[in-house]
Amino acid sequence: MTNSKKIKVAFSSGKGGTGKTSVATHFAQYLSLNEKTALIDLDVEEPNSAIFFKNRVSIKTEIVTRDTPTINSEKCSFCKLCVQKCNFNAIAMYKESFKFFYELCKSCNRCKNICPNDAIYQLKEDIGEIREYQSGDLFIKDGLLKEGSVQTKLLIQAVKKLSNSYTWEIFDSPPGTTCPMVESISDVDFVVLVAEPTPFGFHDLKLAIEVVEKTVKNWGIVINKSGSYDNIIESYVSKNGYKVIEKFPFSENFAKKYAQGEFFYSQFDDKMERIKNYILEVL
Ligand code: SF4
Ligand code: SF4
Repeated sequence: MTNSKKIKVAFSSGKGGTGKTSVATHFAQYLSLNEKTALIDLDVEEPNSAIFFKNRVSIKTEIVTRDTPTINSEKCSFCKLCVQKCNFNAIAMYKESFKFFYELCKSCNRCKNICPNDAIYQLKEDIGEIREYQSGDLFIKDGLLKEGSVQTKLLIQAVKKLSNSYTWEIFDSPPGTTCPMVESISDVDFVVLVAEPTPFGFHDLKLAIEVVEKTVKNWGIVINKSGSYDNIIESYVSKNGYKVIEKFPFSENFAKKYAQGEFFYSQFDDKMERIKNYILEVL
């Protein structure tokens, strides 16, 4: 693949605190110097990629809603057809009372469409918001899940939809290996797993590898906070034929700058270039 096509790359990690966001944001910033690039933060429960870009300009904020069904009991004949036809067991009915389980409902409208009495109508539920920014040549988008909402997957899907085309779409995945992380890597060209060389980091990397291997074809590992314990990861990687694409050294100075939301990888442009070239080579 040449970089004239759109390339989607997700930065993921088996746990929080590996520096995934830091590497993803810096990679996106580096790419944006020469190519049309979007940085998309899919960690909708705690988006923080945009914080690194102090010169960012807010372009737009948009509330995201979804349809939630409810029943007009005056029109309902309590035939239970909607209960039987809902594929997600999101409606329960007993005699003349009903309950929707909105955490199970997929807003598919099937119940509304099959109701013979036109007794089901939709309400709008706020699930969060989408925010767009521009920082120099870099477009940044993130989502913020509404407190109490469980519609993480729906919001991630909404954040992923871009109205413009970019050569590179860089996703900052939610940490961990649960559904939000899987959703974030579901249609990408390449996953960069960011890992730290500690026993916990190694344990979570192995879990992340299991998920990534089942979901995408192309992926590689970046060791962040690299140091004298890298062999925890490297011996496992070489035994299994995996690939460490790049390493970023551990430094207290970097950690301090990260805590202050400052860029510190500009001195590592050569590493970013190597990650980019590896991805292009593999695709
Ligand atoms: S299908 Fe319509 S009429 Fe039948 S129980 Fe459901 S809401 Fe009521
Ligand atoms: S909208 Fe779809 S998922 Fe939700 S209750 Fe109706 S049939 Fe079930």
